[in-house]
Amino acid sequence: MSYCASRFRTVRRPSVEVKVGSVALGGANPIRVQSMTTSDTQDIEATVKQSIALAEVGCEIVRVTAPNVPAAKCLKDIRARLSAAGFGHVPLVADIHFLPNAAMEAVEHVEKVRVNPGNYADKKKFAVKEYTDADYDSELQRLHDSFSPLVQRCKQLGRAMRIGTNHGSLSDRIMNRYGDTPLGMVESALEFVRICESHGFHDIVLSMKASNPKVMIQAYRLLVEKMDRAHRAYPLHLGVTEAGDGEDGRIKSAIGIGSLLFDGLGDTIRVSLTEDSVYEIPVARALADKAMSLWAIPPALPANVRNTNIAETDAVDPFTFTRREVAPIVLSPRAPVGPEQPPRVIVAAGLVSRLPDVARALSQPQLKDTPAEGLLVRVDTPSDLAQLADIVRDLPLPVEFLVLETGPLLTAQDVAPMLMAEGGRLVLARRFGAKDAGLLRDFAATVRAKGHFLAIDLEAGAEAALAPTLRALGEAHLIFTRTATGATAGHAVGSYRHLREFLRELGFHAPVWIRNTTATAARHEAAFLSKLLEAAILTGGSLCDGLGDLVSIETETDPVRATKLAYNVLQGAGGRISKTEFVACPSCGRTLFDLQTTTQRIRAQTGHLKGVKIAIMGCIVNGPGEMADADFGYVGGAPGKINLYVGKNCVQYNIPQSEADARLIALIREHGKWVDPEPHQVAATP
Ligand code: SF4
Repeated sequence: MSYCASRFRTVRRPSVEVKVGSVALGGANPIRVQSMTTSDTQDIEATVKQSIALAEVGCEIVRVTAPNVPAAKCLKDIRARLSAAGFGHVPLVADIHFLPNAAMEAVEHVEKVRVNPGNYADKKKFAVKEYTDADYDSELQRLHDSFSPLVQRCKQLGRAMRIGTNHGSLSDRIMNRYGDTPLGMVESALEFVRICESHGFHDIVLSMKASNPKVMIQAYRLLVEKMDRAHRAYPLHLGVTEAGDGEDGRIKSAIGIGSLLFDGLGDTIRVSLTEDSVYEIPVARALADKAMSLWAIPPALPANVRNTNIAETDAVDPFTFTRREVAPIVLSPRAPVGPEQPPRVIVAAGLVSRLPDVARALSQPQLKDTPAEGLLVRVDTPSDLAQLADIVRDLPLPVEFLVLETGPLLTAQDVAPMLMAEGGRLVLARRFGAKDAGLLRDFAATVRAKGHFLAIDLEAGAEAALAPTLRALGEAHLIFTRTATGATAGHAVGSYRHLREFLRELGFHAPVWIRNTTATAARHEAAFLSKLLEAAILTGGSLCDGLGDLVSIETETDPVRATKLAYNVLQGAGGRISKTEFVACPSCGRTLFDLQTTTQRIRAQTGHLKGVKIAIMGCIVNGPGEMADADFGYVGGAPGKINLYVGKNCVQYNIPQSEADARLIALIREHGKWVDPEPHQVAATP
């Protein structure tokens, strides 16, 4: 079972073309970037203004919410004014939840309609209920009757349709039969697809959104696998819903969207951020460009796959998360590595001369909860080693272990004295090519003699040549990694999957260190964004596949930022929780308060509650359903009024917004999840 042509290289999934007005997506078309307005749809002027602003920054398809018939009627004017302003080429999509009447009105005016199969023609309060087979069939018949008119009208008018499943708002019938699982999400969409097909309507796009990238990735993979079996090739709209804002929102989106794009899946994308929608476009554009540059690579096997007999799939079940089995090692008592341990964070210092500055930077109190555990230092000559020994003797390093990246001129004997001086906290990292079997034996023997570790950076294509040596050596005191990753090296996640398969063939359970080593010097924000996206795809994508025991995001310009970034990526992928998890909707025309400032304000007060998940949602229509598995929810109940939730239960209704923050904190206290922030945490929160 697979969902893509190769897990090691990027091969675009063939999909059929669907036209959304003048913009075609799927087939051989580029990835289309889209977003959504956040204004009240009945404020026609504001909605047209936002649509134009989006189009001007490169948004190719604009979605507008149509929560009721009056709002849907406004789409006529919005369409007309947008066209009159010279944006007739930008298709509009009406976003529909619950109300078929609103959909039937909207379809007259826009190029595409999005329906949520979890709540189309359904009730707004979800209930637990047992469904017999007869109940289920009668529900499907009811659905057929209520959905068919929209399908038929779309067909008559040449409109496209997105069947957009959300993990958090599945129908009662799906929840009862499948639970809120990726399979439930897929079946939810397929019920609607079958109705479309029964009317000969095929201009369909599908999405499987969730706020948890791992769930989202699995759902899309499963959807494609099931569609392939049924010879369906509808295009995919990718998105991580309620991703939040800032670095965290970008990371979550990149993990989910980027991982799928790198596997060749996805025809149009929306990055949902709790920020003005125009800020979504550069992120989406960067993700699309990175993926399309990989799609453009001719379908030949890269060197790291070519010289082995390994097939283009691996032994991983891509539809279920399981962490790779790993043998424990102790790099230091406070930073063990193993199956029960979170991935360890290594920070790059660069050249030896920079070590004192970097060590000072990493000692800052703001990193108390997110410490650098390993420090990576480059050593090229014996004099680098001597200098390093001097520094380490005089300067207590704020890390648990040192990693020495040894250049090609250093032998194992050069490094041996340093190993003795350091005493138990060293990892030697070195690249080994196909001809380096002797060198590999030397280095392995040297580190083992002193109880240290060797991180083998396996050169692309060297696997077959080095396999006999590695088999003879055994895996004790070895760690494996790759440095040929990043945009220029093709499918970076695929490269690590290939390494994993190689280790499986050897029968090794040695830890794997995920290195983000792209050459980009992240001095400018655009370069930093690029680095962030690549790190999120590689590290987050690997962690979502269950791979990765140590991670490093190697930018030498700002080690503190790199450390924070590494922890944020780990949090985004669910690999290591170091702070509060926020689920915040991107806002839309239904939003009842200022989501951006509210999210920032709540984060400032609660951002230190490690492991607590807080959802901030703009409305009660979709908010409670979409906030997934949050511990606490802050949801717009009415203008100026907030409803507070514990799990999925509303416990306080319509409280004045001015009191809502304090009441939320009181609720967190009541449930035993509150701790007072320490001084460094107050300083660190925005
Ligand atoms: S939860 Fe947020 S994005 Fe979703 S419908 Fe409500 S206001 Fe709009």
